[in-house]
Parts: sequence; structure tokens; C-alpha cells
Amino acid sequence: MIPETITSPFQVDEKGYYGQFGGAYIPELLYPNIAELAENYLRYIQSPDFQEEFNNLLRDYVGRPTPLYFASRLSEKYNTRVYLKREDLCHTGAHKINNTIGQILLAKRLGKRKIVAETGAGQHGVATATVCALMGLDCIVYMGAVDIERQAPNVARMRMLGAEVRAAMSGSRTLKDATNEAMRHWINNPTDTHYIIGSVVGPHPYPDMVARFQSVISTEIRRQLAEKTGSELPDYVLACVGGGSNAAGAFYHFMDEPSVKLIALEAAGKGVNSGHSAATTALGKPGILHGSKSLLMQSPDGQVIEPYSISAGLDYPGIGPLHAHLFTTGRATFVPVTDEEAMEAGLLCSRLEGIIPAIETAHALAYLEKLNAAPDETVIICLSGRGDKDLQTYINWFGDRLKK
Ligand SMILES: *Cc1c(COP(=O)(O)O)cnc(C)c1O
Repeated sequence: MIPETITSPFQVDEKGYYGQFGGAYIPELLYPNIAELAENYLRYIQSPDFQEEFNNLLRDYVGRPTPLYFASRLSEKYNTRVYLKREDLCHTGAHKINNTIGQILLAKRLGKRKIVAETGAGQHGVATATVCALMGLDCIVYMGAVDIERQAPNVARMRMLGAEVRAAMSGSRTLKDATNEAMRHWINNPTDTHYIIGSVVGPHPYPDMVARFQSVISTEIRRQLAEKTGSELPDYVLACVGGGSNAAGAFYHFMDEPSVKLIALEAAGKGVNSGHSAATTALGKPGILHGSKSLLMQSPDGQVIEPYSISAGLDYPGIGPLHAHLFTTGRATFVPVTDEEAMEAGLLCSRLEGIIPAIETAHALAYLEKLNAAPDETVIICLSGRGDKDLQTYINWFGDRLKK
């Protein structure tokens, strides 16, 4: 199911660029690791034995294919046809595991014994700790101190799975800072360790590699939608964007289908211009962060601006280079969604569909309020994860409104 290499304006070029974005801006100490990956990743992941192992694990361990569910009550409310791609039903509760399965198989083939990862909401940390347990590899996860507090259930899960969770104490103590620490760890341990990045960010070849592993989402959507409606192509695909991996997976096989409108929802936090936001395309300028050139929230002199979102998984000042390219070329539309809009959408989905979504995912659901799709149009929403990890945040936000 890992896609063959095709030429398209939205695929990475041989140098690792999507248009003007991407590349590998890395310290010299990491050259050998990144070169090893860049030279070998396609050969490994497209080989028949890799594909077989990957597909078998996705089926029997992750639980794929995930359902494409016709959400009848949301459809009725918004007077259009809404389908939810149920990545919340993946083992560990989010799409993240599609990528960690792929990367752990690659790490084994590269002869690595240890894994390092960063995590924001903790979903990538849990997905990484899970595959390390599955394969018997050591696992260290860096997590911002603020996120350790607001995502306590996921910290406990990682520890239960045998991973060591290390707190990142710098900056805003969130995802960006955890990523800095994980990269530093890799620089200091380059020979025995593989770094499993959790989104379509980082130096080439990570963005392309992660997008290919996540592209199973849109492979399945096309087939499932055809079974349900007779057409493989929806009118809209909506997904939230932190770094952009669930969106990359949901968009992947539609990027070259111009009739399909791609809409990425980014976290506006308390408002795009409130000074408490993570709306990268609205606020960002080209810059370099974590090894690639992309859009980045930064001050006029190039300092990274601390992002803010109520959702730990979207609390990141950049987006992957593929998304910067989709934005700049106009192929995808990027729309900011506030904390408040997302929280209301999370409650509405819970009450109308019996599905408590992750707060990240709720940002995508919130856009139904503004989309105005026609009654006969088809809207796919990537339901990237489930909301168990966010229950305390929901309870704190809604207070007495939940007591009936
Ligand atoms: C991590 C996460 C996200 C954001 O990451 P992307 O790489 O942008 O997909 C979104 N939803 C959930 C449930 C997550 O765990």
C-alpha cells in the first residue's frame, strides 16, 4: 500500500523539495544518518517484504482498514453528506501509529536498537512506545513539561509500555521544545538510534516518508467511498493540521484530482491576532525549523514565536513543507479555527454521533459551521483521533454545561 513514486507538482523532488519548501538543513553530525535514510528509504519501503510486513501489521495489529462512516445526524444538521474517516479506531487511538509501524520496520532494517521520539499530545509518544514494545527496542520520548501535565493519561500509557519519558523544560515547554531535545539526543547518539518523527516535518526524507506511510488513509477513502456512493472522489476533504501528517494522509491520493477541494484547519488558539495562536499559514513566513524550510511563525528578526493552542497536538509554530507548498500554490485552503469553535464542535460531535473526538480533530469538525456544502455534495472529515486523552480539558472548559 506504500505508493509507487510518481511525478506530480505535489510530490517531493530528488533534492527533497516541494516547490521552494523542504530540504535538509541539519548539523554536520547528522549528515551520515540523514544521508543513509535519504539514499535508502524508498528502496526499503517499496520492497515486497517490507510492504507485506507493513500491510499485515496495519491489518492485524492496527485494525485497518478503518471504517468510512456516514455521519447521518451531522449530515442532517449541516444539510450535506458528511463521512468520517475513523482513524480514532486505530490501535492506540489515532492515525499516528500508521507512521510508527512503518518507521520501526525501517529502523530494524537499518540495524538500529534504540528509538528516540518527540511528542505533543502524547499520541505519537504512545504510538512509538507501542511499536518499540512490539519489536523489543529501547524507547525514549521527549515531551514538553506543559504537555506532560495536560496529557497525563498518555504519559502513563507510555510508561506502562516501557518507554522513558523525558521532560523538555525550555521555551514554551511544548512540542517545538520536545522536538529540539529529541534532535539533540539523536545528534549525540547517531549510530545506534533511529529518530521516529511524528509528522510530515523534519529534514528530507522524513516529510515524504511519513506522508507515504499515512497515505493509506486516502487509499482506503477512495475505495470505501466508491463502494458507498459509486464515486471515488468526494467534493471536500477536511483535516486538521499540526505538522500535517493526518492531513497529508487524507489528501495524498486527491492532490492530483483538481475537483476535490482540500481544506486544512489550523489552530487559531484564542484568535489569529490574539498573540495566543498556532495558525501557521495566517501568521507564518518562510523560515527553517527542525531541519526543513517551511512556513514558520517568527518575529521580524527570525526568532520562533511561541505557539499556543488548547490542543497539544496542534500547538506547533510550523507546518510540514508539503503543506507550505499546498498553501502557496493554492491547491489547499487553510482556515484558522479557534479553541472555542473547536471545543463546541467536539461537544456537538459527541452528542450527535456518540463519538468523542480528540480536540485536534474537533478543529476539522468545526469547519462544518462555515463550509456551506450543497445537499448532494460529499464531505470527508479525517477523524484523526479519539478524545479520551482530552476528557479533563473538555471537563474544565465546559464545567457545569456537562452536568445535564
Ligand atoms: C498528533 C495529532 C494531530 C496533529 O498532527 P498531524 O501531524 O498534523 O496530523 C491531529 N490529531 C490527532 C488525534 C493527533 O494525535
